[in-house]
Amino acid sequence: NTFGISQSLQKIGIKPENLGSSTGINWLDSVETSFSSFSPADGELIAKVQPANTETYEAVIAQAHLAFEKWRTVPAPQRGEIVREIGNALREVKEDLGKLVSYEMGKSYQEGLGEVQEMIDICDFAVGLSRQLYGLTIHSERPGHRMYEQWHPLGIVGIISAFNFPVAVWSWNAALAWVCGDVCVWKPSEKAPLSAVACQHIVGKIFAQHGMPEGISSLIIGDHQVGELLSHDPRVPLVSATGSTRMGKLVAKAVGERLGRSLLELGGNNAIIITENADLDIAIRGALFGAVGTAGQRCTTTRRLIIQESVYEEVKTRLASAYSKLVIGNPLDERNHVGPLIDRDAVESYLAAIDKVKAEGGKAVVDGGVLGGKGFESGCYVKPAIFEAENHFEIVQHETFAPILYLIKYKTLAEAIALQNGVPQGLSSAIMTTNMREAEAFLSAAGSDCGIANVNIGTSGAEIGGAFGGEKETGGGRESGSDAWKAYMRRQTNTINYSTSLPLAQGIKFDI
Ligand code: NAD
Repeated sequence: NTFGISQSLQKIGIKPENLGSSTGINWLDSVETSFSSFSPADGELIAKVQPANTETYEAVIAQAHLAFEKWRTVPAPQRGEIVREIGNALREVKEDLGKLVSYEMGKSYQEGLGEVQEMIDICDFAVGLSRQLYGLTIHSERPGHRMYEQWHPLGIVGIISAFNFPVAVWSWNAALAWVCGDVCVWKPSEKAPLSAVACQHIVGKIFAQHGMPEGISSLIIGDHQVGELLSHDPRVPLVSATGSTRMGKLVAKAVGERLGRSLLELGGNNAIIITENADLDIAIRGALFGAVGTAGQRCTTTRRLIIQESVYEEVKTRLASAYSKLVIGNPLDERNHVGPLIDRDAVESYLAAIDKVKAEGGKAVVDGGVLGGKGFESGCYVKPAIFEAENHFEIVQHETFAPILYLIKYKTLAEAIALQNGVPQGLSSAIMTTNMREAEAFLSAAGSDCGIANVNIGTSGAEIGGAFGGEKETGGGRESGSDAWKAYMRRQTNTINYSTSLPLAQGIKFDI
């Protein structure tokens, strides 16, 4: 339940009826005290939201369970048809929802629109998928027998999402889960609840129009305690959690203890290798957007540049010059390149990281700092910074969710790949080179150890068609495209005997 949504929407020029009201949705009241959502763009209170408590959680799970009993029997292509309409509804409100995401989270309006486009794209993908939930047929070793496998819906999918992609990551999970016949209970980030409320309105309308139970899509708002209700609940067979590695370890433990499934999308520490054979125009462009886009708050943000020594000085000088031209300011103003960090805690972490890299011997190429004065009243705007550093520095080994880029020098490609892999995380990686041997070595089994490895594009900005996710402390999960849908279903192997006898497998004789 929320209040304040209409005023906030009107303030940024959004029609409340597009995002803020719907029929057929039952908002449960909670006795808990409401909490507030502030915009990092201008520091304004944009809404007060009531969190779920154990009582409302139980009501939501009961509804989700009932909804699953109906939804799993709807043929998958018909489920796809409803998801197609959700995609169309998102097309209609793309500008408004993109703006709300930008205002609530602080990413640029263009990136807010991009996030909604990703939601539309995954709906389209899911529609096609709804006719392609294929299982294999297998030749039986026994005469007169047939084997095949089929994929069935799992049940209630719990989705825990991070603040930085407040709506897209939910849709990656939800659109696939829905066509797979699952129902979703979403626990969005407590730092961006209003965008989640808007999404619930948008999809709730579509399910209601089709006479489908609203429990197919549920929303529970709150902090980690509400997330823990999902991770500990044996009625939730799959918990898909996106966020920090710290959170992922806790969720994995809770879900693992009850032998449930978790799909984890956690922190990254992404690097671009720039070789002496790189097209430096492309390399600089890729590194710049990768490092400062979304104010360094993407899981795929470029955090390390591993640069061959012969081009190191040129890359450093050109990057410093590009950074001097960055315009920092309100994300809704399209002239600005860099918006705010999500909140003041994030600013503190950014400042602490800068102190730490300096204390460890790092040298500023472009120093950081917090911006103040007119337009920066929220206290969340910081300067993107660049430091010369070494890979083994403690701070370089960690993900700081802010625009801080570390420059690291190398001599041989083998050394560069070892540096790239020499961190606990394994999400996204890239090499900038026009040399085929270098590119292929980077992509080989002895190359990058990340879930994403690119050539001549940066580390951020994945397309929904590919499976998205990473290794090591990034959690191992894969979402979105390719065959990621299999995580949302249970596989069943069927053997059918159409003969008149009952031969046993492996030729075992058991005659009486
Ligand atoms: P966070 O870990 O603080 O919170 C993420 C979500 O987890 C929130 O909804 C939070 O309430 C919930 N949560 C926290 N502790 C929990 C617990 N013990 N049990 C259940 N739920 C819990 O992360 P954040 O600050 O919102 O997001 C930034 C992080 O997310 C970064 O590390 C970033 O790399 C990562 N991220 C990863 C991906 C990916 O696909 N790999 C995508 C986006 C963000």
